[in-house]
Amino acid sequence: MNIELLQHTPDPEQTVALAARLCYSPSGLNELLERAEAGDITTFINKIMSLGHHSVLEHASFTFGIEGISRVTSHQLVRHRLASYSQQSQRYVSHVERFDAVMPPSIAADEEAKRIFDFTVGVVHQAYKQLSEMGITAEDARYLLPNATSTKIIVTMNARELLHFFALRCCERAQWEIRSMAVGMLKLAQKVAPTIFRDAGPGCIGGPCPEGDFCCGRTVEVRKQFRSLN
Ligand SMILES: Cc1cc2nc3c(=O)[nH]c(=O)nc-3n(C[C@H](O)[C@H](O)[C@H](O)COP(=O)(O)OP(=O)(O)OC[C@H]3O[C@@H](n4cnc5c(N)ncnc54)[C@H](O)[C@@H]3O)c2cc1C
Repeated sequence: MNIELLQHTPDPEQTVALAARLCYSPSGLNELLERAEAGDITTFINKIMSLGHHSVLEHASFTFGIEGISRVTSHQLVRHRLASYSQQSQRYVSHVERFDAVMPPSIAADEEAKRIFDFTVGVVHQAYKQLSEMGITAEDARYLLPNATSTKIIVTMNARELLHFFALRCCERAQWEIRSMAVGMLKLAQKVAPTIFRDAGPGCIGGPCPEGDFCCGRTVEVRKQFRSLN
């Protein structure tokens, strides 16, 4: 899995702070800009986050390039509706020459399970190639491809949606692959917006675990892990 932060709003925290100041100030834009540049952005962002004035976070946007994830994970990712996506097409990109599959660690750790996985993926790829040789288009041959098929995707989310995404997908309840991807995205986001994403992570970071009976029971360790992420 490779994750890159391809683009983000220039100076995301200053942009968010400016938007928040504008809400509470009679000053004009130029004056607000000067104050945003000179002021203590960290204190200001902490204040609006604690007040729950989260709509101003929507002014900061982040674009990630992600490759080497399975179609299982890309399907889980695109359930997050307040985002924009561009995914490699299985209609226009043939898998005859290049076909990669993501193997779950539980399967990789078991020799027999790994053998079954590799064998089955090989058989499916062979069948895909045969269909293609018979003149079946990629868009129809792809009906054979497994959930494990590797894909690449570009996703853009604003900071508010990212915080929500991290709360759900960094949680131990999320599946290992999307969790690993979400943690990778969080590390990159923290580098460019450390105040906004300082307390980001699963729902238990800022309070009691919201998962009820599904709580992993490892809240203390999870909090420790996310406090020392970078
Ligand atoms: C552990 C886990 C298990 C899951 N299991 C399943 C499963 O078994 N089956 C399944 O189908 N899905 C499952 N999901 C996916 C889940 O149901 C959501 O589709 C997904 O997590 C996207 O979250 P969301 O809807 O909160 O957020 P987003 O789409 O990211 O939206 C963010 C927020 O915007 C608001 N919002 C967005 N759209 C609307 C709208 N139309 N109306 C009102 N408010 C809106 C909501 O407040 C929402 O929380 C699972 C998710 C997790 C994390």
